[in-house]
Amino acid sequence: MQANLYPWHQELWQNWQHLLGQDRLHHAVLLSAPKGSGKLALAATLAKTILCKNGVTEPCGVCHSCQLFDADTHPDFHWLKPEAEGKQLGVDAVRAGNKYAWETSQLGGERVILVQNADSMGEAAANALLKTLEEPPASCHFILLCESMDSMLPTVVSRCNKWKPKLPEEAVVKRWVESGLFDSVPLQVIRINRGAPLAAKAFIENGNVGKHEALLSAFVSFVSTQQGLFTLTDLLAKAQRDGLNWLSFLLLDVMKTQQGSQEAIVHCDSTAQLNAISKAVNPSKITSQLMALNKLKAELARHTGLNSELLLSRWLSGFNE
Ligand SMILES: [Zn+2]
Repeated sequence: MQANLYPWHQELWQNWQHLLGQDRLHHAVLLSAPKGSGKLALAATLAKTILCKNGVTEPCGVCHSCQLFDADTHPDFHWLKPEAEGKQLGVDAVRAGNKYAWETSQLGGERVILVQNADSMGEAAANALLKTLEEPPASCHFILLCESMDSMLPTVVSRCNKWKPKLPEEAVVKRWVESGLFDSVPLQVIRINRGAPLAAKAFIENGNVGKHEALLSAFVSFVSTQQGLFTLTDLLAKAQRDGLNWLSFLLLDVMKTQQGSQEAIVHCDSTAQLNAISKAVNPSKITSQLMALNKLKAELARHTGLNSELLLSRWLSGFNE
């Protein structure tokens, strides 16, 4: 796991360094930040520092512990995460973590247990973790990561020291992504990714700009001519959850355009498309289709194995009714 400090984490890191220097850092740290903002790299920096044999407020990078950490083979570092992206963090993983918590340190020092996606724990897993957080073993540190504390068991949250780093302004994020890619980046890419720098960078690196553009133009053509349902369904099915999120943003933007508002428009670089959709579809249809889309998204996220193409084409047909 790579320990790395992004510029927008500097302030929070200095707070942690201050606490580490006075040996006052809480045994359970809860870090809440959006997806794609680099919180895992920040958590890794903290874990590496706690485990380091030389440094107190930053890892020395050369001791045995730092070397083991960099090689992902540190015996006193345990990383709990869901088996696959989008899945729950299971009770078995948390129980294994609890077991580590009570073991003695193999290097005769501190131990760190990192809980990734702590907001995806089910109730059994959260209760299992809670027991250990309530009676923390000596020299054992917990770092919990989540995207939102709202979906966590309040009793777990209350046992932790909570931190929520602020994301930089979107102009700063845009410059950061551009300097990493040596290329200019449309502002709407930053907004589609909710201002999360790493997510915006990955969006471009994964070729999503092209996919997003293709989806947008197929959608405009579909609502303007009532043709091309199959092409659009296919594009949407291939883009999966991302595609549905892009369309949610798009319909909300169309709604604002129809109301004459420019405020917080996500697709700020696609004015021509927004205007075309605004003309082709009446406002009440936009509202009802946006509501239906949000329902469909929730349904597809809850149940795997649904015939998503059928549901998507049924939803799209709603524009023609
Ligand atoms: Zn070290």
